[in-house]
Amino acid sequence: MLRLIPALFSLFFLASVTNQSVEAVATIDIQNMNLPDLNQLKENPSFTWWSEFGNTLVVGGEYNRLISAGSTFQSLWPQMKRERLAIIVAGHRNELPEKTPIIAKSGRLILTTKTSSLLSDDHMKVMNLETNKVYVQSAIHNPSTEVLTPNQTTSAKSAMDDVDAVRWYSDVGTLTNWNRHISSVDIVSARDWFKTQFEMLNPSSVNLQKFSVNGRDAWNVIATFNESDKNDIYIIGGHYDSISEQTSRSAPGAEDNATGSAGVLELARVFASKKSDATLIFITFSGEEQGLIGSKAYVRNLPAATRARIKAVITMDMIGYSKDDSEDVLLETSQEFKSLSAQLARVSTLVPGLKYFTTFNPFGSDHMSFIDNSIPAILTIDNDWGDYPAYHRTSDTIDKVSRDMGTAILKMNAAALAIMIES
Ligand SMILES: [Zn+2]
Repeated sequence: MLRLIPALFSLFFLASVTNQSVEAVATIDIQNMNLPDLNQLKENPSFTWWSEFGNTLVVGGEYNRLISAGSTFQSLWPQMKRERLAIIVAGHRNELPEKTPIIAKSGRLILTTKTSSLLSDDHMKVMNLETNKVYVQSAIHNPSTEVLTPNQTTSAKSAMDDVDAVRWYSDVGTLTNWNRHISSVDIVSARDWFKTQFEMLNPSSVNLQKFSVNGRDAWNVIATFNESDKNDIYIIGGHYDSISEQTSRSAPGAEDNATGSAGVLELARVFASKKSDATLIFITFSGEEQGLIGSKAYVRNLPAATRARIKAVITMDMIGYSKDDSEDVLLETSQEFKSLSAQLARVSTLVPGLKYFTTFNPFGSDHMSFIDNSIPAILTIDNDWGDYPAYHRTSDTIDKVSRDMGTAILKMNAAALAIMIES
């Protein structure tokens, strides 16, 4: 979208400041730009630096040179020094301080300016902008080059076909009937429901793992299939607790995260009867909203020998919202586990209409509890989640969840897991 007003305003302003060198920042829509053109754009001598945020390239340089660079800008921020820019991680709180300008936004990151209210906000994670750095990359700028063998394609497609969109969506609805805030008595019903659903699949075991959140008891639900003390382990996880602005009244948490936790159950159903040498563990976590407490407790209690057997952890948090017609998924992990991202990107091409974005700047969801302990983990999240209007509100209800969006991510994860457990 073109931000005409600040641009025009600044032109008038600049007309009165002659012969002065002014640093400026601009954004360019690179959504439909091919990779060679993008690489060339980054080399444009009029830009002294760039940073990539998914569909947006942010560039900086001296104002006059910038506007003569021959690019069509999405937005232009004159008199904007690079040092003034800050990146904040969306999702650490509900709303940005007033008058926070959004220069670029992608994945879970927002590029804005350092304001005093921002810097003094303890709940906000603020980082300096690094230049000439890719923060989030879209699929066309990071195409998957790995090829699937015919056998891999067959197992992936079989697992994808077993994902039942109607069943998953119905489960999302069931979960929203309970207030799943950690302080609500209803969260126990959700816990027991997961336990029963897992037990119906005849796993090796289903355990409730108890831990404490601010003095209250909370439980992870852990279903293990093909349990052994020597197999490779693959984990699928997502939190089932929820939050809202009025937790004593309701916290339906449809998108956040009935979608992901019902997704864990759906994948357990898909894989319960599949033959494999691997141990598969499906976990619905609690205490995520208070600081990943359930997943931290899970990792903390893992014996070293078990940790070493974990080959991959795929988490799902907010997989069912799409603000437009396109289905976009964000694959979020650290540099260290890039190959995991590549494996998911590779199978995403089997899911019609699904587009992926990749980022190696992971934050604030259950994947972190594993990544921070050097266990390979990746978060799969819908890429529009940052625009979700009912985020952490009592209005986070099932009507806002897209069945197609959630199903696309579930199919991708099913395909990825099917291939992982074969190799
Ligand atoms: Zn969440």
